[in-house]
Amino acid sequence: MSRVYYRKTDESFTEEELSAAARQLLEAVVEREAVALEKRIALKVHFGEEGNATYVKPACFNGIIDLLVERGTEAAFMDTSVLYAGPRRRRESHTRLALAHGFTRLPVVIADGEAGEHFDEVPINGRHFKSCKIGAEYRKYAQMIVIAHFKGHRLAGFGGAVKQLSMGCAAKGGKLAMHMGIKPYIISFLCKRCGLCAANCPPQAISAGGSVAVDGEKCIGCGACFALCPNRAVSIYTPKSVCFALLRRGDFYERLAEYAYAAQRGRRNVYINFAVNITANCDCVSKKMTPVMRDIGIFAGADAVAVDSACCAAAQAAGHGFKGTEQLRYAEKLGLGSTSYELVGV
Ligand code: SF4
Ligand code: SF4
Repeated sequence: MSRVYYRKTDESFTEEELSAAARQLLEAVVEREAVALEKRIALKVHFGEEGNATYVKPACFNGIIDLLVERGTEAAFMDTSVLYAGPRRRRESHTRLALAHGFTRLPVVIADGEAGEHFDEVPINGRHFKSCKIGAEYRKYAQMIVIAHFKGHRLAGFGGAVKQLSMGCAAKGGKLAMHMGIKPYIISFLCKRCGLCAANCPPQAISAGGSVAVDGEKCIGCGACFALCPNRAVSIYTPKSVCFALLRRGDFYERLAEYAYAAQRGRRNVYINFAVNITANCDCVSKKMTPVMRDIGIFAGADAVAVDSACCAAAQAAGHGFKGTEQLRYAEKLGLGSTSYELVGV
């Protein structure tokens, strides 16, 4: 059984107080779980979509960063680029958004390159994947402190440590594989034949002659063409892909768990979930949202599954259950962690 360390918080807590609580929880995990802090640590965060107001603000991480500085570690704020339109789709605009949102105390690293082309194929033996596309910059960090905002999520049911590990560390092509399991295609009437997609396709799967088309046999599903096309002529949305995303949710949970397993493989990580400002939807939503329940607190541990399980149980006990806990049971089967835990107040 894993231990999950917990500090109750409420809406009266300032960012400074949340930061101090997060530091104490990290200290508790490091000392009581005998987690040795590595020399280089990736602080896996979410920089918050433009217009979103409820992502965890960088001031809440000051205590964690202070501790890392005192211990002589070299850390960076890290994330990967997303599939949909907006500033977080490309490295340059994603980095600008992170800085504008105040993530300035550490270097900002977008782990999968400018458009998702920079990834490692991490081998696993899953039901859905034999390897997972993980942002290649993560390979430079022997350890992650995975900081998640616990809240609802339209597809995953809820978002916590497991989702932060999986979607958050997956390169664009990995996100594509988890969501849709399909290859992109060109909408010919939108295509201006500029050749940008073909020039940036790693396996040269796009013909750039008279008619632009994707060779599905060669395509490795990295998503770079989808991110780079200036005319939105590359699409991943087909009736098949949308049905897949909506109807085969059980598969989606399992795919999430397999990617989380790949992202943490070989690392002794720390997971810190902020169950504050708990909204029905995730921090990728570019608008203000109202929390659906009262703040619960901050949860931390060395086991992503246990930390998420504790958050879900606490939300349920407070009268707001979230869907999607199947991802935790499957993650447990994979060996990612344990759904059984002991809650330890700090
Ligand atoms: S980048 Fe877009 S517009 Fe340019 S060739 Fe490719 S699909 Fe066509
Ligand atoms: S065609 Fe496939 S491999 Fe080429 S850029 Fe697009 S997603 Fe990547």
